[in-house]
Amino acid sequence: MQQKSDVMDKIVSLCKRRGFIFQSSEIYGGLGSVWDYGPLGVEIKKNVKEGWWRSNVYERDDIEGLDAAILMHPQVWMASGHVSSFEDTLVDCKNCKKRFKAEQVFGKMCPECGGELTEARQFNLMLKTHLGPIEEAGSLSYLRPETAQGIFVNFQNVVNSMRRKVPFGIAQIGKAFRNEITTGNLTFRSREFEQMEIEFFVKPGTDEEWYRKWVDERFGWYVRFGMREENLRKRQHEQNELAHYAKACTDIEYKFPFGWSELEGIANRTDFDLMQHMNLSTKDLQYFDDESKEKYVPYVIEPSGGIDRSVLAFLTDSYREEEVKGDKRVVLGLHKRLAPVKIAVLPLLRNRPEIVSLAKSITGDLKSSYKAMYDDTASIGRLYRRQDEIGTPYCITVDVDSLTDKKVTVRDRDSMKQDRIAVDQIKEYMVDKFK
Ligand SMILES: [Zn+2]
Repeated sequence: MQQKSDVMDKIVSLCKRRGFIFQSSEIYGGLGSVWDYGPLGVEIKKNVKEGWWRSNVYERDDIEGLDAAILMHPQVWMASGHVSSFEDTLVDCKNCKKRFKAEQVFGKMCPECGGELTEARQFNLMLKTHLGPIEEAGSLSYLRPETAQGIFVNFQNVVNSMRRKVPFGIAQIGKAFRNEITTGNLTFRSREFEQMEIEFFVKPGTDEEWYRKWVDERFGWYVRFGMREENLRKRQHEQNELAHYAKACTDIEYKFPFGWSELEGIANRTDFDLMQHMNLSTKDLQYFDDESKEKYVPYVIEPSGGIDRSVLAFLTDSYREEEVKGDKRVVLGLHKRLAPVKIAVLPLLRNRPEIVSLAKSITGDLKSSYKAMYDDTASIGRLYRRQDEIGTPYCITVDVDSLTDKKVTVRDRDSMKQDRIAVDQIKEYMVDKFK
């Protein structure tokens, strides 16, 4: 069995070597807990988002999409409770200047260097900025610490413009920022991250039923996209763990090499947020139910997932090493919809212009429907291994016979089985494989 840290090291190394994830500003020594997605990383991340959006916004008929701005009116964060209570208690080392969460330090000594520590201070996790040319109190703004509030403040806009009736939800994907102190484990906890969130508005009294439905729905989503069920679990929060706005919360956790950790939280946020915004803005945010002639503030069920964490979990979960005829083969067994490259076209001989030209023309034809690539930079064996390592589901090889029989070889990533397919049938073949 592989050592756990060993697996994480391999993922970190693969991410950098094959262009999935790079450290931010690496040539300057890096920026702590901020990451960049490389050419393959941006593809898998886009595919995760696309899969989530399709499942929730397109395939259901009770959810609308939204893309709210990162910058919001500062009063939003007063109403949400983030100005007053989104904070950690921190101590600083007077000697090495390192900062620690008070709960992680025992005694009065720095755990790193033994230096003297400052008194504990409250530290807000929101990133501050100033709008306009002058830095003054009135221009203070924040980079949003969660995407949710952009949905709450647009609740009535969406109800009115789309003629929606409760129950219905609003889905949003976007960046959020937290000035995290404890960081680490690649992209698992970063200061700039991306969320996929739904605020699902329901009639009070039906909230517990909807909460349970969403926990099951979201668990099933990860499984449908190929995550192994034995590496997933649901963990219900204890009363003392609940956020200030939540009546109940269940985390969907993944068994990362560094331990079980949260991928997504499904919270029953009650009417907390809409009530807060109603009070502070003095706008009436109640919903009027035409049929029952009732007026009420809806309860909200919130499935809130981290995209960066999901990408990391999908990569970890699909990573495997196999032995093939005495050689080691590294495979990312990603779900086809998540794979960064869908089809690679490889010429068996790169010094035969007719073969190269046919391979390039096949790639060109596939590009309108798939992320396809042409590669002739190594021998065929090496090219297959490289594609396996980034999770490409199909490789098409053009050989000498292709020139006369007008057929190519299609190789399946997982079974390594090869099919001989007529060039003019490739598109049809792929439609069937990717449906
Ligand atoms: Zn110190």
